[in-house]
Amino acid sequence: MTNTELLVALIAVAVVVLGGGAALLVRRGRGELPPPRDLDAITEEYIEHPEHPEPHLPSEDEEPPFEEVPADEKDRSPAPTPAAPTTTVERPEPAQGRLVRLRARLARSNSSLGRGLLAVLGRADLDDAAWEELEDTLLAADVGVGPTTELVDRLRTRVRVEGITDPDAARQALREELVALVDPTLDRSLALRGPEGTPGVVLVVGVNGTGKTTTVGRLARVLVAEDRTVVLGAADTFRAAAADQLSTWGQRVGVDVVRGPEGGDPASVGFDTVKQGLETGADVVVIDTAGRLHTKSGLMDELGKVKRVAEKQAPVTEVLLVIDATTGQNGLRQAQVFGEVVEVTGVVLTKLDGTAKGGIVVAVQRELGVPVKYVGLGEGADDLAPFDAEEFVDALLA
Ligand code: GDP
Repeated sequence: MTNTELLVALIAVAVVVLGGGAALLVRRGRGELPPPRDLDAITEEYIEHPEHPEPHLPSEDEEPPFEEVPADEKDRSPAPTPAAPTTTVERPEPAQGRLVRLRARLARSNSSLGRGLLAVLGRADLDDAAWEELEDTLLAADVGVGPTTELVDRLRTRVRVEGITDPDAARQALREELVALVDPTLDRSLALRGPEGTPGVVLVVGVNGTGKTTTVGRLARVLVAEDRTVVLGAADTFRAAAADQLSTWGQRVGVDVVRGPEGGDPASVGFDTVKQGLETGADVVVIDTAGRLHTKSGLMDELGKVKRVAEKQAPVTEVLLVIDATTGQNGLRQAQVFGEVVEVTGVVLTKLDGTAKGGIVVAVQRELGVPVKYVGLGEGADDLAPFDAEEFVDALLA
């Protein structure tokens, strides 16, 4: 090949390459190129699923399809307007009397228990079979073996000794015994007063999915409604969504949320939250924690550390364990593990609106030796109700 021939060949190659590039640019200007199609994948798919129609394999010279943009629309590409941040701070409703207001939800889910008990007690002849039926109804509602036997024995004795035959009197006796079982004497208030003017520090623990973060958010609303100043801590650093979720809860009621880097040390978030509470003179600090039950020792280390480190600033005044009422015996076992790890001072029983097993209130208190302080009765922001033994039993028997 002569030099001239070589030059001609090089120019020809350059024209082809530049021409292709220019065509590509023109196409990009008109629209996004569809992703390159992997012919092997298409063929494989076709072989694996022979019922598929013949795949359309683009031919070499086929133009990829473009959507025609009408000429008058090309200039009207509107710049996206950023959503205006919500600045309205909500004023949540006070929590008092919520159990009564929400009793319909409780009654609906627990009506089988109340109705079942009243149906048996309403019988003219309370024979052994009737008492056994009563026992079965209580056990089916997760009341637990010990408390069930206790209740049936006491009722049986009363019916015999007091000569109860009238259904109304039987109903009254049942109400009294149920209230005694749920125990109206337990102190169900939250310990929110720290020593020497330090804020009350509430640690919220429980297995993931039980409604822990929701409970922290709702608790903040309850406290704000009581005119308390609150700081929340997102110490579940393993779930970015949990911190985002909590920030939204906080924003809605104008409460600060302390969060750390994703995957960061939960204990340092706990520390920073209490520190901020102290510095700003907040009344209460509520800390959400992670509830991964991978191993008991892992959980023990993590929760223990969060509590220890937070207490370098101020003592933890309340440890609330969140239990999902729909998980029955399983929830109870998880509760026991948590009970061994941290000293639980109160239980929040969530999703009581979604179960007919309201008897778990009794079982939880017996197993853990701590009172149920709040119950969750729905997914709404204010569906967290302070627990009350008499109101609960009345809703059960409504
Ligand atoms: P966490 O993983 O323990 O923090 O759980 P979340 O707070 O994210 O809650 C898990 C789900 O349970 C969410 O869909 C909540 O809306 C729902 N939930 C929480 N409490 C209640 C309740 O009392 N009733 C009902 N029906 N759902 C609830």
